Amino acid sequence: MNKKTLENYDYSGKKVLVRCDFNVPMDDNLNITDDIRIKSSLPTINYLIERSAKVILMSHLGRPKGEANSKYSLEPVARRLSELLGKEIVFADDENVVSERVKETVDNMSAGDIVLLQNTRFRKEEEKNGENFSKDLASLGQLYVNDAFGTSHRAHASNVGVATYLPSAVGFLVEKEITIMGDALEAPDRPFVAILGGAKVSDKIGVIENLIDKVDTILICGGMAYTFYKALGHNIGKSLLEEDKVELAKQLIDKAEEKNVKLILPQDNVVAKEFKNDTEFKTVGSDSIPDDMQGLDIGEKTIKQFSDIIKDAKTVIWNGPAGVFEMDNFAKGTFAIAQALADCKGTTIIGGGDSAAAVEKAGLADKITHVSTGGGASLELLEGKELPGIATISDK
Ligand code: AMP
Repeated sequence: MNKKTLENYDYSGKKVLVRCDFNVPMDDNLNITDDIRIKSSLPTINYLIERSAKVILMSHLGRPKGEANSKYSLEPVARRLSELLGKEIVFADDENVVSERVKETVDNMSAGDIVLLQNTRFRKEEEKNGENFSKDLASLGQLYVNDAFGTSHRAHASNVGVATYLPSAVGFLVEKEITIMGDALEAPDRPFVAILGGAKVSDKIGVIENLIDKVDTILICGGMAYTFYKALGHNIGKSLLEEDKVELAKQLIDKAEEKNVKLILPQDNVVAKEFKNDTEFKTVGSDSIPDDMQGLDIGEKTIKQFSDIIKDAKTVIWNGPAGVFEMDNFAKGTFAIAQALADCKGTTIIGGGDSAAAVEKAGLADKITHVSTGGGASLELLEGKELPGIATISDK
């Protein structure tokens, strides 16, 4: 990687602004329901305080649309972070995020102190990468660290604008994310297998196009498989279809053949009468979907075939569930894929989002080489795009 990392600076007594991804899910009572993103930020924060930095943390939370809103306050994050670190955190609760009062708080910090700023999206300029807000944030620190992988595909003031005014580095989390994913894409151990599922072909086109040049096998599943079936002339009943992507699916099938890449579609499916858990369902072959039914999961034969391919792979990347895994009757395929990745001895990578939620739910996350913390950001990496939040960091 050609970007500066934490090891490239001396931090003693320096004010270091760190962009984290504390965009955690909360229930109606503002209790944090999953703190994995907070835990993922700890290595960088600990490294900096151990080196006597003054650490100023910033993050967005939810979509407050450029206005202060107590529902989206980072106060619960400050409390949880303080518990996890076993250390007091000063929460600089200010509706303007940066103000004279916040500047004073930062000026009064001692080495090893931590201040958390209020939700950066309380300011309208945040999502517009506004110059004034970027300067306001930069005025608080002497160095900037991006450790928010989940927002690296966005160019906002707190992760891109701010870097214009300060020397910068990527934090440990971002470094890990881009190194593991980057190595897999550039020099994978083979066989290299990608599993792509989820609802829409349109969301995954860029990923398929980029991966087709790199992988040995692409396993297609989830709702998007039916657009591919359609391209092959199969009857898909009431299954999910993107009519305007049928031609493209055809081209991708041809391209895979040209490149000697195995593009494998499910050979059987669990089809259901209605889009709900408690409905009539059965397993049928790929060319036998009844007119009045819809495919909601992969079938047993496909599970066996996909699992064998995954277990024998040396590098696996998975993005998107194999079926409607939110419903118990149609979750089997997704959990079987999670298990196959857990059983695989090679490098296994999960590109965030729903597939990450599935391995967490199955209790298999610690058996996976890397579960990305950023769905959108990891998709863009898989598409071969440069992420603005990383491009902006000082070169080595
Ligand atoms: P994505 O955000 O594109 O990764 O899609 C995830 C969503 O796809 C999940 O909410 C799944 O329920 C949904 N999904 C997966 N398979 C199917 C299917 N066969 N039919 C309809 N939706 C599906």
